[in-house]
Amino acid sequence: MRVLGIETSCDETGVAIYDSEAGLLGDALYSQVAMHAEYGGVVPELASRDHVRKLLPLVKEVLAQADTRPEELDAVAYTAGPGLIGALMVGASTGRAMALGWGIPAIGVHHMEGHLLAPMLEPQPPAFPFVALLVSGGHTQLVQVDAIGEYTLLGESLDDAAGEAFDKAAKMLGLDYPGGPQVARLAELGDRKRFRFPRPMTDRPGLDFSFSGLKTFTLNTSNDLRVDAELCDKDRRDIAAAFEEAVVETLAIKCRRALQQTGFKQLVIAGGVSANQRLRDRLEVMVKKERAQLFYARPQFCTDNGAMIAYAGCQRLLAGQQSDLSIQCVPRWPLDTLEPIQHHGADV
Ligand code: ATP
Ligand code: MG
Ligand code: FE
Repeated sequence: MRVLGIETSCDETGVAIYDSEAGLLGDALYSQVAMHAEYGGVVPELASRDHVRKLLPLVKEVLAQADTRPEELDAVAYTAGPGLIGALMVGASTGRAMALGWGIPAIGVHHMEGHLLAPMLEPQPPAFPFVALLVSGGHTQLVQVDAIGEYTLLGESLDDAAGEAFDKAAKMLGLDYPGGPQVARLAELGDRKRFRFPRPMTDRPGLDFSFSGLKTFTLNTSNDLRVDAELCDKDRRDIAAAFEEAVVETLAIKCRRALQQTGFKQLVIAGGVSANQRLRDRLEVMVKKERAQLFYARPQFCTDNGAMIAYAGCQRLLAGQQSDLSIQCVPRWPLDTLEPIQHHGADV
């Protein structure tokens, strides 16, 4: 089965073609970050308009890349939520309309299920069941994954998501949006021992997170060091290092608990923050101690992309699911309300 995947939930237009036999055949991404950087964050109306401008050219580009004619496609998968409603509607209505025109089924995909399954696109994918840490711009969740669609929420952030905390810390350090990768780059050069930031909610049992306090801690630490409203380069590097260390250590402590609680031996990390090298290194050390294994996607499939939507959609279509002609997007959509997939042994 060959599926065209479309992702437009936020500020990235992603398109890809995944084939259940041949694997990933094409993948293209247009990021709007430069446009939103001027405003320090994503402006929803501008995001929608830019998806309109970029989506069809990207579809053409991916079809050419995959050496695929539209008649060779079996279905279209589009992100139906969660995300910005206007941005979602662009991908959903375009995807639904193309599928109708081509006479093939379409399916609405949950964006976080896409992130969660992205590591399946790697040469050595995890096998079910596993524990997943979803760490992105809008989510920080620990999920027990028994199969596709069988998700039990083990814990989540009570306030800011980890990626959001990275972005806010970046802003305080004078870095552009999105700041996660830039904080990571600064942190590499910093002294990780100079400041000790708190590891929120690790001193009590449970798998929930809270990152808003770290933001305040970063603000206070930087304000104490400012001279004429300016931070020197060394202070910025050391703050970035202390911040990253605190986030990474906190995530590692909770991931370890989740492995112990479930007894599972596989940990999957997904979403933009799973691209963070320090996090990957720290978790490698932890899983080794737990005699477990760590899985993640290549960096460009950690952040938003069309490939994860094509893959997730394909799995559900193979199990006989599809969406009807109505175009329904869901800005808020809890992952654990998804339907499990039931294999009947027959394709659509
Ligand atoms: P969601 O998926 O929850 O709807 P989103 O789609 O905006 O949110 P992603 O695209 O998965 O989120 O990830 C973007 C986030 O990942 C941003 O907050 C960004 O700062 C962060 N990020 C990306 N790379 C890194 C990195 N190397 N280190 C830390 N954070 C990173
Ligand atoms: Mg993004
Ligand atoms: Fe995302």
